[in-house]
Amino acid sequence: MRQQKMLIPTLRNVGEEAQMASHRWMLRAGMIRQMAAGVYSYLPLAYRSLRKVEQIVREEMDRIGAQELLLPALTTAELWQETGRWDTYGAELVKLHDRHEREFLLGPTHEEVITHLVRNEVNSYKKLPIALYQIQTKFRDERRPRSGLLRGREFLMKDAYSFHGDHETLDATYQDMYNAYQRIFTRLGLDFRAVEADSGAMGGSENHEFMVLSESGEDTLVMCNACDYAANLETAYVGEKQEQTIDRKEVPPMEKVATPGASSIQAVSQFLDKQPTELVKSLLFIADEQPVLVLLRGDHEANEVKVKQVMEARHCELADDETVQRVTGAPIGFVGPVGLGDEVTILADHGVKRLQDPVLGANEKDAHFIHALPERDFRVDRYGDLRTVVEGDACPRCDGTFRFARGIEVGHVFKLGTRYSDDMGATFLNPQGKEESLIMGCYGIGISRVLAAIVEQQHDEHGIIWPSAVAPFQVHLIAVNVKDEAQVKLADSLYEKLTGMGIQVLYDDRPDRAGAKFKDADLIGIPLRVIVGKKAAEGTIEYKLRRTGESGELNSDELTSQLT
Ligand code: ATP
Ligand code: MG
Ligand code: MG
Ligand code: MG
Repeated sequence: MRQQKMLIPTLRNVGEEAQMASHRWMLRAGMIRQMAAGVYSYLPLAYRSLRKVEQIVREEMDRIGAQELLLPALTTAELWQETGRWDTYGAELVKLHDRHEREFLLGPTHEEVITHLVRNEVNSYKKLPIALYQIQTKFRDERRPRSGLLRGREFLMKDAYSFHGDHETLDATYQDMYNAYQRIFTRLGLDFRAVEADSGAMGGSENHEFMVLSESGEDTLVMCNACDYAANLETAYVGEKQEQTIDRKEVPPMEKVATPGASSIQAVSQFLDKQPTELVKSLLFIADEQPVLVLLRGDHEANEVKVKQVMEARHCELADDETVQRVTGAPIGFVGPVGLGDEVTILADHGVKRLQDPVLGANEKDAHFIHALPERDFRVDRYGDLRTVVEGDACPRCDGTFRFARGIEVGHVFKLGTRYSDDMGATFLNPQGKEESLIMGCYGIGISRVLAAIVEQQHDEHGIIWPSAVAPFQVHLIAVNVKDEAQVKLADSLYEKLTGMGIQVLYDDRPDRAGAKFKDADLIGIPLRVIVGKKAAEGTIEYKLRRTGESGELNSDELTSQLT
């Protein structure tokens, strides 16, 4: 491609709102432009790389026998009502209706749609197991879509689903997927780690997340320095402490309580009025040695103020970590933010699982619940700032100790079991002619997030450093001075030759200053730069590797023979 004609609107600066390195560099390299929060256009350079990521994923899925299809993004509400997720999925769900007022949604994930398809088309064990996948735009109305492609509200995902008649084949497919993911992220040139992950409300059992190691990641990973144990901090093994002490059957059903005001603190104070109260550790109340978890919406600071007010009114004291430990069995973190009907995100540590009677609600009058039981009534899927596990803790599996790292979740593999097939009546006939629920697995990769994760990991102070597998072009050919006939002649002929060899070349034929061209080249980050300058008349070019900065001179014929 001739750069003069290509749409690569590089920028010298970007605004403060672009905080993440990948967001900044992709804006500056003229790769993406924002249309609305979390909604982006992929310009030609980015789209070339995106398709390469997609292709690597596709090849590895095909290799393990998964079949590609394409499901509708526009989905009827009815399917999601069958599994209950129309109501429980939360505010991330993009709902809409057609001209007849029929309700629809834009798919954030496709368990319902694929299960619907398979329950109609696959009825016998003879067709099992089967693995299907698609690469498609997903929609999630994320709360904080501020990180460029890392967290979009519209983003590209590869989602695969497998259906089985028995657990053995599920285990085998899960392992195939796991191995395929290892190959994919290796081919993509990423420094990554597969970690044990929490099963949350997906209803599944075993699952792993694939994490790109990066300081800017939102997840905290716990890794043993001696063995291969690695987990998301949410699930990290904490020994005895992790035991469930709640007798789930004894927790009464979740009950809505009338509250005078919008705040959860008010709801909790009212609820606790009936009981002796001690206020423990930021937002954890202990009533009668019964921990009460408070889920709050809104910014933490405002909530802290409210807590202080309640404390003063009640002459409570903040308990220290030790007291919290004694009462709850684990240190407790902060919890928030929650809206009525939201997917509840808990930012506490494992102790949360021992808590009974959390109060949860929206920032509205009369919109609070008591007796909310984690996993029964809401989803526990994330723990945050305070940690049960700390760096240096002993690993439960060997003599090693834990260290922490930050990670970006790029993939997730999951054994779902019959969570969806039970609800949706997706069954098959086993060899004995008996009807059984299909056993399922699901496997996602955030294709567009991967692109950003690569940049997050591979850049320097001048711009992006693309690994060759996904670079938008392989060679950046630069004619330093397009007024110089010899330079243009040699550059033109190299362009023809390399392109003819099947090499993807971006040819900077712009009449700009050399300095500006080199700056752009650093920014865009194509692995090999070929510079046609002053020595063009002798047939000599200069090359430079973007990653190492290594450079040298070559005869143009040497160059082409080295590239074959
Ligand atoms: P996160 O914890 O980051 O919100 P998730 O666990 O909700 O992600 P999954 O439901 O597991 O995401 O979806 C599969 C994959 O899709 C994720 O591993 C991630 O790579 C990608 N993904 C999820 N949400 C987004 C998003 N908002 N923007 C881009 N990619 C995303
Ligand atoms: Mg999410
Ligand atoms: Mg996640
Ligand atoms: Mg996930």
